[in-house]
Formats: sequence, C-alpha cells, structure tokens
Amino acid sequence: MSTHILLNGASGRMGRAISNISSDYDCQISWPIDLGDDPTDGINQCDVVIDFSLREATLPLAQKCGEAGKPMVIGTTGHDPSEKEEILKATSGIPVVWAGNFSTGVNLLFYLTEQAARVLDSSSDFDAEVIEMHHKLKKDAPSGTADRLLEILKDSRGLSDDQIAHGRSGLVGERPLDEIGSHALRGGDVVGDHTVYFAGIGERLELTHRATDRKIFAAGALRAAKWVMGRPSGLYSMQDVLGLVSSTR
Ligand code: NAD
Repeated sequence: MSTHILLNGASGRMGRAISNISSDYDCQISWPIDLGDDPTDGINQCDVVIDFSLREATLPLAQKCGEAGKPMVIGTTGHDPSEKEEILKATSGIPVVWAGNFSTGVNLLFYLTEQAARVLDSSSDFDAEVIEMHHKLKKDAPSGTADRLLEILKDSRGLSDDQIAHGRSGLVGERPLDEIGSHALRGGDVVGDHTVYFAGIGERLELTHRATDRKIFAAGALRAAKWVMGRPSGLYSMQDVLGLVSSTR
C-alpha cells in the first residue's frame, strides 16, 4: 500500500527531487506544503512527515508531529545546539530519522572516518581537517554533513567545540595538534563535496565523497520514511536505516 507523505519545503530543490522519485518508492506526496501553508490537517491524515525546508521551520513542525504522534524524517540542516535540544524534546514521543545527509556514500564516509580516526588518533601526529563545497545558494555553513564529520573527529580526539577552527585568517600561529580545521567553499551548482584530511609528516590520507545528483538524498529520505513507520519512539540516524549501527537514543 502506498505511503502518504506530508512534505515540508515541497517547492525547494530537495522537495522537488523527492516528489520526482516518490512513486519509485511506493510513496505519494499527498500534502506538499511550503512557506505559509498550515500543516495541521496534513499531519493528522498522513503516514509520515518529511522536512526539507529551513532551519526555523523544523521546531514548529516537530511540535505538531509530536502532538499528533506522527513519525518524522528531518533533512533540514543548520540548527544550533539549543534548537536541536528543543526539537528532540518535542519529538521524544515519536520515531524520528534525523540526518544531515541521506546518501549511502556519505554514511559510509562517516563510518570510514570513525575507523580512520580511531587509528589516527591524537597520539598519532596526524592533523585532521574537513573541507566541504556546496552550491552558492546554500544558506548555512558548515554543512550538516561537515558538522557530523567534525563531531566524529572531535569525539575521537576528546576535543571541545571551541577547538574547531572554522577558517583561518591573519597571524594564527602554528597549528596546534589539538585543533580540527573546518573550511566551507561555496560556488556554482556543486551538489555537495566533502573531504576529511588526516595530514601526517611524509604522508596524507584523504577520504572524499562527491555528490553529483540530489536524487541520492531524496532516495535516502524516502527510504527512511518507509523505515521509520511503526518503529518505537526515539531518534534514529541514516546509519540505523542502512543497518550500519544501532539506535543513538
Ligand atoms: P531550498 O532553499 O531550495 O528549499 C527550501 C524550501 O523551504 C523553499 O521552498 C522554501 O520556500 C521553504 N521554506 C522556507 N521556510 C519555510 C517554512 N517556514 N515552512 C515551510 N517551508 C519553508 O533548499 P534545499 O536545497 O531544498 O534544502 C532544504 C534543506 O535541506 C536545507 O536545510 C539543506 O541544507 C538541507 N539538505 C539536506 C540534505 C540531507 O541529505 N539531509 C541534502 C540536501 C539539502
């Protein structure tokens, strides 16, 4: 039976990409909504809600989904820690798949970065840096994917948020080992490139993923929507959907 979806941000680039392939996943975008639309009726009637809109739009939608007990897939990025906390609070009674990147390749990049970071830890003399590039219309930086890569590196090295250097300029001095560099490039129509560097003395490891088509995120989001229905309440990642790890909450 077809899955009926309320899609928030339906007129955007990702919204259109999801609508274009929804029938391939036996899904119908029965409530395509965007800025200014009231989601209440759609939330009550749909099977699952997908959000690919703007950072400010996620919390009010999450509150309505929490009240209605509707499963949710969140693809929107750029939320700060307090917004994330509020969204998690609002959705504590429903199942949610929340991912900064829904592509299979990027979730494998997360996994490989975890493995590499375990070997090339802070005692190894390898400097870790993350570079990402996206199209010039992207509104937040660093990307949700880069944020997740930085979090993996930060946790594996026992560092704090203020040890992440977002760009460097001026007389910054020698690079300390207990620092992770983060750099965001913007231009043209780049769908999404991410590289994690482990730079040692005499050698360098680079893990790169390049997205060339938004279809990969759209396919992952629809796959997550089918997967999340009927799950126990809690926060799930795309790695859960792909069977790479167990639940994070
Ligand atoms: P976009 O700017 O093309 O589309 C966003 C849409 O949201 C627009 O149609 C806009 O009108 C709508 N919108 C804005 N405010 C809204 C509101 N209050 N309520 C409802 N709709 C609202 O952006 P995009 O490229 O489609 O990306 C959307 C989001 O998804 C961004 O946060 C982006 O970073 C993220 N994204 C995530 C992934 C992933 O895999 N998780 C992949 C690509 C993009």
